[in-house]
Amino acid sequence: MQNSETIWQIVDGHRPEFEGLSDRIWGMPEIAYTEYRSVAEHTAMLKQQGFRVTENLADIPTAVMGEAGEGGPVIAILGEYDALPGLSQVANIAEPKPVEPNGHGHGCGHNLLGSAAMLAATGVKDWLAATGRPGRVRYYGCPAEEGGAAKAFMVRAGCFDDVDIAISWHPGSMTRVDDALSLANTRMDFAFTGRASHAAAAPHLGRSALDAVELMNVGVNYMREHMPSDARIHYAMIDSGGIAPNVVQATAKVRYAVRARDLPGMLALNERVKKIAEGAALMTETRVSVAVVSAVSNMLANTPLEQAMYQNMLRLGPVPFDARDRDYAAKIQATLSDEDIRSAYRRVGLPVRENTPLCDFIVPVDAKGDPMIGSTDVADVSWAVPTIQARVATHAIGTPGHSWQITAQGKAPAAHKGMVHAAKIMAGTAIDVMTDETLMARAKRDHQERTARTPYICPLPADVKPLLQPRPEAA
Ligand SMILES: [Zn+2]
Repeated sequence: MQNSETIWQIVDGHRPEFEGLSDRIWGMPEIAYTEYRSVAEHTAMLKQQGFRVTENLADIPTAVMGEAGEGGPVIAILGEYDALPGLSQVANIAEPKPVEPNGHGHGCGHNLLGSAAMLAATGVKDWLAATGRPGRVRYYGCPAEEGGAAKAFMVRAGCFDDVDIAISWHPGSMTRVDDALSLANTRMDFAFTGRASHAAAAPHLGRSALDAVELMNVGVNYMREHMPSDARIHYAMIDSGGIAPNVVQATAKVRYAVRARDLPGMLALNERVKKIAEGAALMTETRVSVAVVSAVSNMLANTPLEQAMYQNMLRLGPVPFDARDRDYAAKIQATLSDEDIRSAYRRVGLPVRENTPLCDFIVPVDAKGDPMIGSTDVADVSWAVPTIQARVATHAIGTPGHSWQITAQGKAPAAHKGMVHAAKIMAGTAIDVMTDETLMARAKRDHQERTARTPYICPLPADVKPLLQPRPEAA
């Protein structure tokens, strides 16, 4: 396909700057909506590369957008840079050892995710300038993918209204076109209020909010038998009401994540969980209030874009790992169970390959896997515009998501190679869409057909705002 090799050379030319950006983000792990230093790094890089920058996108201070080019179609390349709590980990070793006890860490590889996305956008920008073609490329720096649903808020704010196609990727252990399976997900806080009393001297006067939370959890656990088998429900105690067992707890709060295959399925489950909470409040003579924290949709596939991205992967070949990369990955694999490794293959529908610590192949686009499914806020973008995602190998096969092993591998040479490879796949796909009008038209028709069947309903209630965090005081 025309110009495809040129774009890869352009991407290669920017390699050192973006490997540096990724490593700096790795070294300043910031969690949902606190990514002030990370977004400053991304904004500075956008300006350095000559993008027109919009800060405070969708009134989110840690979101940013950079645009380049004139007229023509608009291609959005989506990046992230949020970290996870508790996954602090020293790089390039194969044993758990935090940099900072209980500190944050890039245990989902979003340092690579954002840097590769901006590298791809920079490559497309340079290609547009070199060819003089009309067209615009945008890098969207999206915060709070982990639990913050920032992209759903950005979709609601209209940030993608004039975008033609969106492209993204996620670091992984296999190189493949993303299978566009993700669960719709709502996070809700259930806050119970009772009455405090002395637990020994006046227990009859107390009404325990903690009891209500426990009963709610029991109720939901009984409901599991009677819900769709691919739905998921989990909970975490946000507030257990205090540490004194001799006080009847007057307040308690539990956060629920309710996931289902699609939006209507999730909304129905949400109502059932709310009924159980009301039942728990009734049993304990407490009161309950419900607040939606965030919500995302399920991912919408796009067949023409899947094919276009897959062709880029085939032309480019697997990530060029070397013996040293495999050596370190083998040490990481030694910390995993056989089941970790087997399930990585099962997920993509391939037989286990022995002595293959890193993915030196491309998973066929038609491989029938048995995926275990999470959720992503990229899904809401996929309802707004035709969207495609790559998975590109950056770490050892079998490495669990959200693990110290991902943080440890996050700035290894293999991770850098996967990151640059992902940028090439995304940039190549972007240019195919810009140069092949029939591809653009087919992608849009595919999207229209899917959304005509089930129109998009924003899963965020109208009054819910992102859980923005204050800018930390300058040290
Ligand atoms: Zn992630």
